Amino acid sequence: MSGQHSKALMIIGHAPSGYITAKLLLGRFAERGVSPTWFLIAGIGGALAPDLDMIYFHLVDHRQHHHHTYFPHFPILWLCMLALSFAWLRLNHASKGAALAFVFCVGGFIHMILDSIVGDIWWLAPFVDRPFAMFTVPSLYHPWWLNFILHWSFALELLLWLWALLLLRKQSNHSLPP
Ligand SMILES: [Zn+2]
Repeated sequence: MSGQHSKALMIIGHAPSGYITAKLLLGRFAERGVSPTWFLIAGIGGALAPDLDMIYFHLVDHRQHHHHTYFPHFPILWLCMLALSFAWLRLNHASKGAALAFVFCVGGFIHMILDSIVGDIWWLAPFVDRPFAMFTVPSLYHPWWLNFILHWSFALELLLWLWALLLLRKQSNHSLPP
């Protein structure tokens, strides 16, 4: 890793964030009869979807540009999709597809926020070519990933896992016979 700061990223926090998002929203869409499993898959899928551009980064771009400069990491894309899926929800009060699209887009937008904590996100892209990050991870250790594991933001990622596991446990307690 070059420079005095590591190339920052959220390593393991996206999957549990999608699960938490879907779990917390599921009750609101229960009357549509949406499948809880598909709802969770859509939430986790949205939370992971922006990082699919890593495939392009490695295979096509040969790591020439920060993958956050590709359009799947443009917050405006997720905001527009969020607005469209919200409009769909409002226009069709029975659509299960609208509920799945909405949780997918919420998951994707939360990905932008989580990536901005310690990573660069081009919040005003494609209009302004300038990244924003809330915090930077100093490059103190080798190998590079130690910088993340020993940084406080990694505790945040672990907290997301803890929260997700608590929600999962709550659910399995509910499904136990009395
Ligand atoms: Zn990302």
